[in-house]
Amino acid sequence: MNVKKIMVVGAGQMGSGIAQVCAQSGYSVILNDIKPEFVERGLGVINKNLSRQVEKGRMSKEQKEEILGRIIASTDLHDAKDADLVIEAAVENMEVKTKIFAQLDEIAQEHAILASNTSSLPITEIAAATKRPEKVIGMHFMNPVPVMKLVEIIRGLATEDEVYQTIEDITKTLNKVPVEVNDFPGFVSNRVLMPMINEAIYTLYEGVATKEAIDEVMKLGMNHPMGPLALADFIGLDTCLYIMETLHEGFGDDKYRPCPLLRKYVKAGWLGKKTGRGFYVYE
Ligand code: NAD
Repeated sequence: MNVKKIMVVGAGQMGSGIAQVCAQSGYSVILNDIKPEFVERGLGVINKNLSRQVEKGRMSKEQKEEILGRIIASTDLHDAKDADLVIEAAVENMEVKTKIFAQLDEIAQEHAILASNTSSLPITEIAAATKRPEKVIGMHFMNPVPVMKLVEIIRGLATEDEVYQTIEDITKTLNKVPVEVNDFPGFVSNRVLMPMINEAIYTLYEGVATKEAIDEVMKLGMNHPMGPLALADFIGLDTCLYIMETLHEGFGDDKYRPCPLLRKYVKAGWLGKKTGRGFYVYE
């Protein structure tokens, strides 16, 4: 299938990154969020990222302007009528996602593929909110999108082979590496990563060590580029909590219970880097 126009729903950390890499690879992009200021914020992040590339001599000013010129701002989901592919990157919440997918199903052209960047929610359940489950797929980018190479591609129960192939091909055109994964809670990435982060939070909660010590052990001892608590702040503590809840509910196994300290921080609005405070404080 020939995909020319891509709509990205949700202009947060992930959506803005996805819009950037799509525009950089020559696709026309519609960047959508619920409020104009959210879209503006996303466009501001893209502008800043591209300016850094220009400063480093990796891109000309003209190239930067061309890339930005390929992105259209939107606050109306009806703009999906022009898209060949929609990539949803709204909050990690099944109710929000199924509502968006049901609406997209009504609006988007018959051939359009509907993808979700969900970190952990079942693609099959999201697909069931539409009348085109064969055209629904998971396209799980990593954070920060312009830097990280991996895209986990998740087949829902009904995802067509042709749709899978199209998404794999598009991923390669974005200069990313696709890895095929079946539809289980947390897929591979967050099934392995998130219990490790949750355990690091328990380690802090139980007073085993300070946050700095926990991160230092994992950085210097395990050669992780970032400690798990700093990584949780970077991902967003709300997203971490949603993922742990999805694993807990999906497997019905208490080994996935979210740490009470994680819940407490999310309730306090300490969501990590994006709100200026999580386990660490950000200027
Ligand atoms: P974020 O909070 O930075 O951004 C979410 C955006 O979605 C916000 O701008 C919000 O206004 C918007 N939104 C909410 N409801 C919407 C709606 N109905 N229509 C359009 N926009 C809506 O979150 P994020 O970190 O960008 O995460 C987005 C998705 O990507 C989640 O599903 C998350 O699990 C997934 N993800 C996150 C990471 C990560 O490291 N943060 C990595 C991979 C995947």
